[in-house]
Amino acid sequence: MHWTEEALEELARVPKFVRDMAKKAVEHEVSNNGRTEIEAADVQHSRDKYLGIISKKSDKSGPRIAVVRCETVSEVCPGVACFKAFNQRKIHFKDYGPDAEIVGFFTCGGCPGRRISRLVDNLKKYGLDVVHLSSCMLLEGPYPACPHIEEIRKNLELKGIKVVEGTHH
Ligand code: SF4
Repeated sequence: MHWTEEALEELARVPKFVRDMAKKAVEHEVSNNGRTEIEAADVQHSRDKYLGIISKKSDKSGPRIAVVRCETVSEVCPGVACFKAFNQRKIHFKDYGPDAEIVGFFTCGGCPGRRISRLVDNLKKYGLDVVHLSSCMLLEGPYPACPHIEEIRKNLELKGIKVVEGTHH
């Protein structure tokens, strides 16, 4: 498959963390059409078709929220209570209006929260306003409370992100 210079320039505009996926989608689409050369228009077409949903633009005007949770706890918890609390605007989500949206839900990546900084930097491109540290990071229970919570909170605040401690407890 041959990529023209213009097509490669267009591909470079796709956010880095989904660029490989976009490249495969374009090649698949062009190949299905029986062609072997990829032009800029092909990239634009596939980007609109497959990646439009993660556009930086949003028709919502409310705060954009991400939830970070404990990597260890995520092995036994699918996050139902976090989403339920958000969907019903309860507990630590009670002050949000209907325009609030969750734009990210991810695990910390393991101690000491090694993945958080990179993912938050990516989400800032999509207008991230607030990060909730999930209740599983804060509570003593079957799993211990996170010993790195203060460091994680300070790092997020240094990035200009509002931090809320807790989700559904
Ligand atoms: S950094 Fe905290 S939240 Fe992340 S795995 Fe370790 S204990 Fe869990």
